[in-house]
Amino acid sequence: MNLAHLLQRQASIDPERPAILNGTQLVATHGQWAQRCQHLARQFQAAGLQPGDRVALFMRNHVRTLEVIFAAWWAGLAVVPINAKLHLREAQWIMDNAQARWAFVTADITSKTDDKLTGLERLVDLDSAEADALWFLPAKGYQAGCETPIAERHADDLAWLFYTSGTTGRPKGVMITHRNLMTMGLAYFCDVDAISPQDTIAYAAPMSHGAGIYAIPHLMAGARHMVPPSGGFDPAELFALGEQVGPLSMFAAPTIVKRLVDHAEAAGLSMQTCSQTFKTVVYGGAPMYAADIQRALRVMGPCFVQIYGQGESPMVGTALSRHHLQDTAHPRHLERLASVGVAQTPVRIRVTDAHGQDLPTGEVGEVLIQGDSVMAGYWRNPEATASAIQKDWLFTGDMGCLDADGFLTLKDRSKDMIISGGSNIYPREIEEVLLHAPGVAEVAVVGAPDPEWGEVVVAFVVPQTGHELDTATLDALCLQEIARFKRPKRYEIVASLPKNNYGKVLKTELRKRLG
Ligand code: AMP
Repeated sequence: MNLAHLLQRQASIDPERPAILNGTQLVATHGQWAQRCQHLARQFQAAGLQPGDRVALFMRNHVRTLEVIFAAWWAGLAVVPINAKLHLREAQWIMDNAQARWAFVTADITSKTDDKLTGLERLVDLDSAEADALWFLPAKGYQAGCETPIAERHADDLAWLFYTSGTTGRPKGVMITHRNLMTMGLAYFCDVDAISPQDTIAYAAPMSHGAGIYAIPHLMAGARHMVPPSGGFDPAELFALGEQVGPLSMFAAPTIVKRLVDHAEAAGLSMQTCSQTFKTVVYGGAPMYAADIQRALRVMGPCFVQIYGQGESPMVGTALSRHHLQDTAHPRHLERLASVGVAQTPVRIRVTDAHGQDLPTGEVGEVLIQGDSVMAGYWRNPEATASAIQKDWLFTGDMGCLDADGFLTLKDRSKDMIISGGSNIYPREIEEVLLHAPGVAEVAVVGAPDPEWGEVVVAFVVPQTGHELDTATLDALCLQEIARFKRPKRYEIVASLPKNNYGKVLKTELRKRLG
């Protein structure tokens, strides 16, 4: 089984149907997309690339990204997507570790430093004449039956070698197979949304991450794929594009959702306008606080669905559906809003103690996932694989608890938990409270070493522009809402929080500041 068959199938059903858009402009029908993939696949083969070899992608979101990915699969190769915000040396480390033979790049990303990428057989800049030549097609239309056969691949062969964002240590290569991505694609229809051929997915978040692999369910449905000309996230651009080619669907991290909502509010857009612009905004990848999703629903309407997953089980863990997000009459609605929802259809979820024993409802332990979306292992790292996957269960490193209805609430990454005077404290709880304080924009809570308590709770708080924060008010709010021992012993008011390239707060950095 090879994911390239999804493209071949759509190209046979309706070759003329629009597939890839650069903003509002059509750049490929499904037939043209398949034809270019065959053409590129032939050139990979002519250069001696063999099934299983790796090609790396280090680029801003580009209209040619999906063509490269599916061409690589067509030829049986595995794709190594690299976050465009990484330093060139970090990208080089990944390419070397993956032993990538070719790399496709965009110059805006590779020319940020004087360093040059080395060790590759071919480095193709997607905006160059060299790429135009590679993409140049003989003057012949798409032919069903295909001139370049799709390489035979087993469902468990490597398709996507994704390097974990690595908030600590060196990134590890997560081996994602054709089966994993096929499962992810089908789960979208069961747990996230129905997709019609008239839909358009917008790639505003990095295509090297979850946003990019959401191309798969959209291709399964024959929908359109739109890359915003800015190659990234610009709320004004997205709203304008949504009006012209929308309604759009997209994946967005919580920080991006927040900026969309800010824009809609500042521009005075009605909920009706927002619904005409966005069909579905899937959020996940980092905690979405209950107060933030309530505001998002109030401003933009019922377009949201939450997913929880991780690189090791991409986009597939739990989902909090549109229905659950709107079911305000449910007696546990608020708890559900703060949860990440229920297990997605193809997986099972457990919460266990340190010995792998199931915990009763409501008790916090490590979250485990089992199913066909779970990675084959870490690239050339059997030790890390053996500790992450035991008896077919993926140990996510996330701490959470299940309620009686199967809703999972995440507390923290296991390493983020604070132990003060022998009590476990989950920073997320305190962050939820502080975010309700007037004038607070962002919060991150960590533990600082303390001779008496082992660790004490410290809150880093970012004020909203133009607001002065008074720590006595913050403390009073904590006293009102949570147990005394959990409240921060110290507040650090800061202008911003350190974040990694995916916008996740780097708690390790904050801990370092506390010595
Ligand atoms: P990554 O492998 O970079 O995608 O990061 C995955 C991690 O992000 C998970 O293990 C969680 O810690 C966190 N995460 C993913 N989705 C959510 C979510 N919906 N809510 C809270 N945290 C999330």
